[in-house]
Amino acid sequence: MREPYRTTTVYFQVDPQVPEPRPIELAGDAIRAGGLVAFPTETVYGLGANALDETAVEKIFRAKGRPANDPLIVHIADVSQLPGLAVPVPEIAYRLFQRFAPGALTLVLNKREAVPANLTAGMDTVAVRIPDHAVALALIKAAGRPIAAPSANRFSRPSPTTARHVAADLEGRVDIILDGGPTAIGLESTILSLVRETPQVLRPGGVSLEELRAIVPDLTYQPQYLTDDAAAPSPGSMLKHYSPRATVILFRGDDDLAVWAAMKAFADDHDHVGLMTLEQDVSRFADLDVKVESLGADLDAAATRLFAALRSLDSRGVKWILARAPDTTGVGLAIGDRLLRAAEGVVIDVKPVV
Ligand code: AMP
Ligand code: MG
Repeated sequence: MREPYRTTTVYFQVDPQVPEPRPIELAGDAIRAGGLVAFPTETVYGLGANALDETAVEKIFRAKGRPANDPLIVHIADVSQLPGLAVPVPEIAYRLFQRFAPGALTLVLNKREAVPANLTAGMDTVAVRIPDHAVALALIKAAGRPIAAPSANRFSRPSPTTARHVAADLEGRVDIILDGGPTAIGLESTILSLVRETPQVLRPGGVSLEELRAIVPDLTYQPQYLTDDAAAPSPGSMLKHYSPRATVILFRGDDDLAVWAAMKAFADDHDHVGLMTLEQDVSRFADLDVKVESLGADLDAAATRLFAALRSLDSRGVKWILARAPDTTGVGLAIGDRLLRAAEGVVIDVKPVV
């Protein structure tokens, strides 16, 4: 077994819009020296290392306790860094980045030799994105090289949307944490593979399929929820992911009243129940002994708050977390995907009341 990466963690507060030069410089030095830096992006916090340094990349896996078969995303500051990582870079990649970069779109391309094998979990493809966050972009420029960065959480825990979440999981396992406040989108990037004939969405995320189809009308998306990673054509698609300590139960159904009734019945029959729901539905549970976490007014707000709500309910000591699966349009697709993984596939399909 690999030893966990151990170090002393130093914290810097940085302005998310106009990051101070000094902490960015120190963090860039740390990346060049082969260290680990956690930094904010617009999706979630990333745990970064020099993408072209195999030993530094290995530290990411050791810090997270991440299995070696789960590849990392490489973060670059602009498209001029693409040819250094991928070959060939197809025309469509430039068109997609022109529309969605910087932003929550990750492209999978054929990798260059220079990209270390551990970063790509031994595959000949590499995942690349340009984050839409001043701190992340400043850090990549200061480091002067692409930065490999998965989410800055321990393996299978909810992704971190604040520096405090990062500290809770990785204190003593990351050299520097750049605290730039809470992240804006709150869900990870959409991953689109361009290495097959037909573009294939491997993970729904911050950019919706509807938006992507405007540029790649023929894209495919085949949700994969594997309980055994061995056979995974797209690695890291394990069912158990984003898991809080409590058991998550997902309720699905079109009949609002029936779904609420099923959630209430579950809450009535169990102790230590927590529940996540949109703000306008919070009052429905007022007469029940449940700890309720509001996800905000709409699905965009819910995306931002989802992982923090899972962690918060955990810290409030609940045994169960109930949530309703959203519609699968727009950002709802990615929210539903994360909820299903947090629930490890436990879904209660609620029949309409006739
Ligand atoms: P994270 O940044 O922690 O959300 O994890 C990155 C995810 O990107 C992995 O779990 C994979 O699902 C995906 N990924 C990274 N590189 C590749 C690749 N070369 N091919 C397919 N998927 C990838
Ligand atoms: Mg992750």
